[in-house]
Amino acid sequence: MSMLDGNALAGDLREVFAADVTTALYTCGGCGHADVIATLHLWGPAPGQVARCPHCTDVVLRLVQTPDRLILDLRGTVRLEIPRAG
Ligand SMILES: [Zn+2]
Repeated sequence: MSMLDGNALAGDLREVFAADVTTALYTCGGCGHADVIATLHLWGPAPGQVARCPHCTDVVLRLVQTPDRLILDLRGTVRLEIPRAG
């Protein structure tokens, strides 16, 4: 086994971020509840969007859009399973 730098993840991460993430299965860091992203309770839009667990109301993810970047905070998610196409 050899160590590579983060550039080696480019192809795999391209698949992750090109997927329809609303069908991905999250696991809440607060209570362990698992369901698809589409079931989260969303608040926003300003200054960013906050998605909360429908089971315990902990924040699962935050998304902030600025003129030159998207900031995605997933610290409330312990696991994200994204279905592969085809
Ligand atoms: Zn929860």
